[in-house]
Amino acid sequence: MTEPGTLYIVATPIGNLEDLSPRAQRVLSAVDLILAEDTRHSARLLNTFDIRTRTLAFHENNEERMTGRIISRLAAGNSVALIADAGTPLISDPGFKLVRQAHAQNIPVSPVPGPAALIAALSAAGVAPGKFLFDGFAPARAEARRKRMSALAGAAHTLVFYEAPHRIKAFLADAATIFGAGREACIARELTKKFETIRQGTLGGLIEWMEQDPDQGRGEFVVIIAGAGEEHMDIAELTALLKVLLKSLSLKQAVQIAAELTGAGRNEIYDLAVTLQDKVSLRDE
Ligand code: SAM
Repeated sequence: MTEPGTLYIVATPIGNLEDLSPRAQRVLSAVDLILAEDTRHSARLLNTFDIRTRTLAFHENNEERMTGRIISRLAAGNSVALIADAGTPLISDPGFKLVRQAHAQNIPVSPVPGPAALIAALSAAGVAPGKFLFDGFAPARAEARRKRMSALAGAAHTLVFYEAPHRIKAFLADAATIFGAGREACIARELTKKFETIRQGTLGGLIEWMEQDPDQGRGEFVVIIAGAGEEHMDIAELTALLKVLLKSLSLKQAVQIAAELTGAGRNEIYDLAVTLQDKVSLRDE
């Protein structure tokens, strides 16, 4: 059922207990020990599935101290499962030191995949999921948060953040200032739970929506912000760039270079370049 001396990284539900996979149930029942972020919180899940395995608290405050002990038990042949309060361990949750140590000691580490709020949110957000950058929780302090957002403002990747209810409004306000109120975004709230809400819009629109319905500010959040892709490109900047390029290059070359420099779509650049070229040639006539 489980291999001796193996560390299992087991994903658990992010709200709906039915999301605990049959394999996760089997592994959690079969291991010698379950490491849980909060043993009382996890007891509800384990009791629901009649999982009687011994649990031990393993959280950010004792991870350092516990890691050596757990590694010794694994080395002695015990099988151990790590779970978080919700979702996939190590994803904005403890366990990284333990996993690193396990690898250093040649102890097998085996994932039992399942829910993760960021993936659930991305799958349903309607914001381009192809390339994304998961940034976890933004810094709590306003200055540090704004600095971090500014560093990401030009990224072409879709941005994914976790946020707590007491900071969601400040987060959105800063995001609208730094990424622009017109930037496309999605708020995925209380996923898989009774008040699940997935709302897409511009950052400015989402702020307004939340102001009108304060209940939308409660619960757990994933915020997804579209990357600085072609639809969000600053047309003024692109126009200025194309004007310079068209002075000395052919239309085709100018479009190619502008596409490489900005990451914007060739068709859109081409259409703009044609208009600009017409204007340039009319002026020259
Ligand atoms: N390990 C978890 C995972 O796999 O998603 C994340 C743990 S992190 C400490 C907790 C944060 O994840 C919450 O503050 C929230 O941002 C996000 N989150 C967790 N469950 C969620 C849910 N059901 N709906 C929306 N966001 C959730």
